[in-house]
Amino acid sequence: MNYDTSRKEDRECDRKCSTCAEREGCPAGEEESAKRMGKIGYKIIVASGKGGVGKSTVAVNLAAALRDQGFRVGLLDADITGPSVPMLLGIDERGLVEGRDGILPVDAQGIKVISMGLLLKSSDSAVIWRGPLKMAAIKQFLGDVEWGELDFLIVDLPPGTSDEPLSIVQLVPELSGAVIVTTPQDVALLDSRKAINMAKSLKVPVLGVIENMSGLVCPGCGEVLEIFGSGGGERAAKEMGVPFLGSLPIDPNIASLGDHGETFSGGRDAASDSFDHIVDELKRRLSL
Ligand code: ADP
Repeated sequence: MNYDTSRKEDRECDRKCSTCAEREGCPAGEEESAKRMGKIGYKIIVASGKGGVGKSTVAVNLAAALRDQGFRVGLLDADITGPSVPMLLGIDERGLVEGRDGILPVDAQGIKVISMGLLLKSSDSAVIWRGPLKMAAIKQFLGDVEWGELDFLIVDLPPGTSDEPLSIVQLVPELSGAVIVTTPQDVALLDSRKAINMAKSLKVPVLGVIENMSGLVCPGCGEVLEIFGSGGGERAAKEMGVPFLGSLPIDPNIASLGDHGETFSGGRDAASDSFDHIVDELKRRLSL
């Protein structure tokens, strides 16, 4: 993890990597990386225009739902400075192990996971890295990890449309598409439009928009309280000419399960049913 694209010697190392005899400690060359990525069926990024809208929750539960359906799934937490996947999947271990052919992903509940969070001393440690170093880490996470044969690799992007998520999208070869997560408020929708435009400008197919935190079902009377409004995600998707995958209600259970490292997909409540519908819709978009 000491590779830095801003340093000339590391850039040279990167160029020579696929043929170099002293590959140990070097990031994989593009050839090697392409070979590894070629073993993955669908690569899907989960993006959002802003933080806190439930992007990581959707990414983790999407991975879990696909695993439940028998698919082999990997999850790359590409949010280097704010990695939340280890917590959402209840991963306590720290450190990554080097296998015969590269870094070994951690198996969390049957999902192969790589996250910067696994390299931090504690979940409170901060990563104070500049752009080039972060990109070098992502490059290694893609090319130097023994992902093996996978049906899906879900990439949880950092929030927003700054150069960081943009550069990460460019690093993932042959992306199948992007899922955009938003909440119903105008301010979130405004930013989600930007995320859709980012995907479009990078020629990444937008698989669809998910409206999260769309109404709260009152546990007492069953009435739906539209705390942040609802329907904005669908309207925005329509306006931008991209598919709408579905909406997910606010559910205290989702937050509580996430805090305890558990997923809610596959459950028997209204939120799980809505999520099943979203996953079916996504698979339909992929002709599965
Ligand atoms: P992001 O990745 O967009 O920053 P997270 O997935 O980390 O957002 O979610 C932020 C918080 O909101 C987490 O505590 C998560 O459990 C909670 N959360 C996400 N979606 C819902 C939902 N539909 N209902 C209730 N809580 C939710």
